Amino acid sequence: MIRLFFILLITTTLFSSQVQRYRWANGDTYLVFLEKLNLPMRSLYYNLDKDDQRLTEEMRAGIHYQILRDDNKTITQILLPLNDELQIHIYKKGDIYKFEPIPIISTTKTEAFATKIVSSPNYTIMKETGSRKLAQIFTANFRNSLNFKNDIRKGDDLVMIYEQKYRLGQIFSMPILKVAMIEMRHKQHYIYLNDDSRYYDEKGHEVEGFLLARPVRGARISSYFTKRRYHPVLHKWKAHLGIDYAARRGTPIVAAGSGRITYAARMGSYGNLIKIRHADGYETRYAHLKSFRRGIRKGKYVKKGQTIGYVGTTGRSTGPHLHFELRKRGRAINPLRVVQVTTKKLKGKEYKAFIKLKKNYDESVALHLKNQTKYPKRAKFADMCYIHSMSCDTDG
Ligand SMILES: [Zn+2]
Repeated sequence: MIRLFFILLITTTLFSSQVQRYRWANGDTYLVFLEKLNLPMRSLYYNLDKDDQRLTEEMRAGIHYQILRDDNKTITQILLPLNDELQIHIYKKGDIYKFEPIPIISTTKTEAFATKIVSSPNYTIMKETGSRKLAQIFTANFRNSLNFKNDIRKGDDLVMIYEQKYRLGQIFSMPILKVAMIEMRHKQHYIYLNDDSRYYDEKGHEVEGFLLARPVRGARISSYFTKRRYHPVLHKWKAHLGIDYAARRGTPIVAAGSGRITYAARMGSYGNLIKIRHADGYETRYAHLKSFRRGIRKGKYVKKGQTIGYVGTTGRSTGPHLHFELRKRGRAINPLRVVQVTTKKLKGKEYKAFIKLKKNYDESVALHLKNQTKYPKRAKFADMCYIHSMSCDTDG
């Protein structure tokens, strides 16, 4: 690990004179970006396939990207991070500029802390860690199962164990909550992340979230969310920023959560598309619809579970299915990480496996509680990850 870090340091020094870091401005689009830098739009956009073109729409204001220039100030490489896992790599090969999505390299650490409630869990976690994300994942997952307003007492215990991604010493991406415990009226309440990526309480009952797990009842998942996936035929990195539910044409689609419809019309490769805005900056998208339900239009408020449209295969689609996306403040996130329903109750083998996992988690929670584990202190490193990738991913 130390050696790796050392190599990266050297690499950074070598390249630091030519690599420059910029911030993606508000309102900038990928095409404007190419135009500003005098880069060829044909090879870097118009000749790309639809999936790669759609990736270029994922750039967000505030994201830091890097440009590498040679001694003549000619651009030789650009790295545009799209999400926690994938980045666009633009590079010069001879006289030609090429486009490729490549993975971002990161490490994952399991971390934990124990603290005493000062007021709301949200405030307590913010005070202890300074991390809005940790506060968010805690409250989002306990939200519908506990009443924080009436049952919180000052001095009660709170423990969180979670996974955090790092890129050269710097935190990035949403942490993944593994287990959380909150004491309320002398009773400890737990949620556990099971091997099936859903959260359960002590009894193996699934915890209810604010969104439904499946916007199409009884549908089978035919394609999972992935921010990077190596395509075996195309031999390149692709992303699938939603979940596909295979279902028969005409099957009703329900709103995954209550909210306001912000879009209900055709949109390019999405086909017939509905977008719903929910609380806390969440948005869900439903694509390839055969048709909209009568009365479903922009501006209308819909309730969780209400039918909004019907499964179809409009837009860029190979067969009837619902392409479902969940976005948080514009960024695509994995719905299965956020969405839970009450219905599932673990039984038999699954329950036995859960109890085993629970036992391990309970032991760690008890240990952190006993030691009053502090939230880990973090060093401030420069953001060198992309630069590192730049120096080692030049061969395409
Ligand atoms: Zn899809």
